[in-house]
Amino acid sequence: MFDLTPTQLDLQARARALSDGYVNARAAEIDQSEEYPWDVVEKLTGAGFMGLTIPWEYGGAGLTYFDAVLVIEQMARNCGVSARIVVEANMGGVGAIMGYGSAAQKELAASYVLNGDKPAICITEPGAGSAATEMTTTAVKTDGGYVLNGKKHWITGGGVSKLHLIFARVFEGGVDQGIGGFIAIRDETRGLRTGKREFAMGLRGLPETEVIFDDMFVPDAHVIRPPQGFRHGFAALMSAYNGQRVGAATVAHGLAVGAYERAIAFAKSREQFGRPIAEFQGLQWMIADMATGLAAAQALIYKAALSGGDGYPDKNAAAQAKIFAAENAIKVTNDALQIHGAAGYGRSLPIERIVRDARMFTIGGGTAQMLRNQVAGAVLNMKTPQTRAGYCDTPEVRQAAVH
Ligand code: FAD
Repeated sequence: MFDLTPTQLDLQARARALSDGYVNARAAEIDQSEEYPWDVVEKLTGAGFMGLTIPWEYGGAGLTYFDAVLVIEQMARNCGVSARIVVEANMGGVGAIMGYGSAAQKELAASYVLNGDKPAICITEPGAGSAATEMTTTAVKTDGGYVLNGKKHWITGGGVSKLHLIFARVFEGGVDQGIGGFIAIRDETRGLRTGKREFAMGLRGLPETEVIFDDMFVPDAHVIRPPQGFRHGFAALMSAYNGQRVGAATVAHGLAVGAYERAIAFAKSREQFGRPIAEFQGLQWMIADMATGLAAAQALIYKAALSGGDGYPDKNAAAQAKIFAAENAIKVTNDALQIHGAAGYGRSLPIERIVRDARMFTIGGGTAQMLRNQVAGAVLNMKTPQTRAGYCDTPEVRQAAVH
């Protein structure tokens, strides 16, 4: 169904070799040190995996999201952090700039990513998580640009990423215009500061931090104004984010594949009651279910990655892939731990790390609940506002809900 071309098979094999070799050997240390793996980034850059999707004319490989998925899947089999770096260096922020940016903005983004920078995408705020459009970071028009003030949190790569794509509410002449994208460079753009780090359950080599803007000036040349204007800015920029969602689904899936492969090897070698535990039907059925879930997740991911052709994936295909792959990864990695018994619960094997890493993907980048809201809206052809006023659409009910 998803026949790979010889070039794709070669790309996949190169990714697998780097993942099974260098990346696998580093994965446990990355988790324990909780430090960003600059050495792995150097290898990823050398292999050409940073900026695969950047067009030829800007120095990238000009490949598709589907090609990037093939690389991410292999990386995640051994290391979720390394795989997420590949996602963010091909999708998300860089994807939005390549789709909506000016030629100069594309050149700027390419110059960072192709030299090993994993861009940061800054949307979430303390008061605006799932309700992202309630963001309060402001971008106020001034001579030659915009002045940004506000605080984002849970920003992946805070303090290590240079290139930042920041979503902010735009005000011109005191009037709210909608949401725009603003490009800033850490250590170069004055007023951009890294705040507190959140120490997380998994994926520990990637810092998640606050990013704070204090009167940060962004020149007009670094503003992303989607073709239909700021009024449609959030929807336009989020269409680029569908690529990131397919990438995140792939990391979850790859982690699950890694756990599954390890569980099979363990089940064949571990003996109890005088025979390999793989001979017990109770485990065989678990393994059959794991294999089935993984096949389904991969099919949804590949379908979503291909859905946009050379462009961004379809939003509902991306949502379905992320919902399913993220939830399946939690199940499969937990079953893999179960098959390992105490050995899986111990820290000397990678399984407990993989379980922790896989837990994230029903949350970050759109929760499984919010994505279900979106899919249901498409299936039912209904847009159900999530706000209190939206749910309570008679004056009486609205009045009752307020009190
Ligand atoms: P909330 O919105 O507070 O939700 C809490 C719970 O309520 C969830 O279960 C949610 O599904 C549910 N819920 C909320 N509203 C509804 C509704 N209408 N219907 C049904 N259920 C609902 N953000 C960035 O901008 N950039 C990043 O780089 C980034 N990286 C991240 C990395 C990690 C590891 C994590 C964990 C998060 C990251 N995020 C990032 C933030 C992430 O996108 C948000 O956590 C996510 O959008 C959810 O927001 P929240 O955590 O505030 O949860």
